[in-house]
Amino acid sequence: MAVDKSKYLSKTLRNLKESATLKMTQLARDLRNQGHDVISLSIGEPDFDTPSFIKEAAKQALDDGYTKYTPVSGLPELREAICAKFKRDNNLIYQPENIVVSNGAKQSISNLCNALLDPGDEVIIFTPYWVSYFDIVRLAGGVPIQLKANLDQDFKVTASQLAGAITEKTKLIIFSSPCNPTGSVYTRDELKSLVEILDQYDSLFIASDEIYEYINFGEKHTSLAEFESVKDQVITINGMSKGYAMTGWRIGYMAAPVWLAKACAKVQGQVTSGATSFGQKAASIALLEGPASSLAMKSSYLRRKKLVQTMLAEIRGVKINDPQGAFYIFPDISYYFGKSKGNMLISNADDFAEMLLHNAHVAIVSGSAFGDDNCFRLSYAAADEVLVEAITRIKHFLASLT
Ligand code: PMP
Ligand code: GLU
Repeated sequence: MAVDKSKYLSKTLRNLKESATLKMTQLARDLRNQGHDVISLSIGEPDFDTPSFIKEAAKQALDDGYTKYTPVSGLPELREAICAKFKRDNNLIYQPENIVVSNGAKQSISNLCNALLDPGDEVIIFTPYWVSYFDIVRLAGGVPIQLKANLDQDFKVTASQLAGAITEKTKLIIFSSPCNPTGSVYTRDELKSLVEILDQYDSLFIASDEIYEYINFGEKHTSLAEFESVKDQVITINGMSKGYAMTGWRIGYMAAPVWLAKACAKVQGQVTSGATSFGQKAASIALLEGPASSLAMKSSYLRRKKLVQTMLAEIRGVKINDPQGAFYIFPDISYYFGKSKGNMLISNADDFAEMLLHNAHVAIVSGSAFGDDNCFRLSYAAADEVLVEAITRIKHFLASLT
């Protein structure tokens, strides 16, 4: 019999959670491979293909010999294009030395945590949070501290909450706007009130994850670094995955003060080196073109948001906010806790996610993965008819509970 040697894994690894988004997606794939008609709304991924001019640029780059190692911080032309993007879209002046290109924004966040955190340093994570923040911080030796915002505050942390959460151990704050998983967007005024708190702490850093910048249904996107008084404390995270539908390309980037950008490049240089050569070349063409190609995608997301919202609002006991960006909705289904399907009791969102998958063949992600056990995350980056079918199944499943 095979001996279980998993006890030899590091303590850090044993305490690490598997990415819930990726796990649910795999479970859905497995069920589908067994012949079940599964609808997967679990992964946060545009259902659109990468615009063809970007694909053409990558093909051209291959033909032009972009097949070698790249500088660790990124191809010069891409770092220039990123600076031009910041200037055009966000009115932010950065030099190429401020930019580090990585294998996805996920790696940018990981580089940052490894560059900044000593064991025991606290990282305040606005909650609900994107699933990986928590474990990236732990992998880097930091202590994640959840700062919880509820549905009735549109899942947005207030300035007074932030002020109350900062301790002498706090080193970093991480949040996303537009937010994964809630779709909430901090307005300029809300960001300003957070900045007034941050102004009081020189040695505190803030990672502003703006990867859904182009999927914003409300007022023009505000970048936290636009507030001059905190620009030196802000690390802007962004990437090609969402706005340009380029998840598989693995290109993300950060803008940071030069000393921190250098430190992140040092981390990356020891772990993965520079991101893929031809992907970077194509990303530079995409960024110079601007958000035009993502506008059609955005209007589809907005239409689907309304569809999903209307259908969910009709289900008894389900509470929702009005997401202003990204392509997620994060309904509260705590009304159903304590109810059962046959002899299976639903006590929390994990039970709900599991039973929904097995009974109704709809994959969503439990809110517990995002720090809120009353909710679940549904990605509406899917065709309208798929969304209608999925929510109809959810409705029937909930109605069948006793
Ligand atoms: N930040 C947020 C908020 C996300 O939803 C994601 C998911 N893709 C990422 C970062 C990572 O993106 P990527 O690594 O694909 O650039
Ligand atoms: N960010 C996406 C999500 O939240 C992609 C999956 C992942 O990287 O975790 O589903």
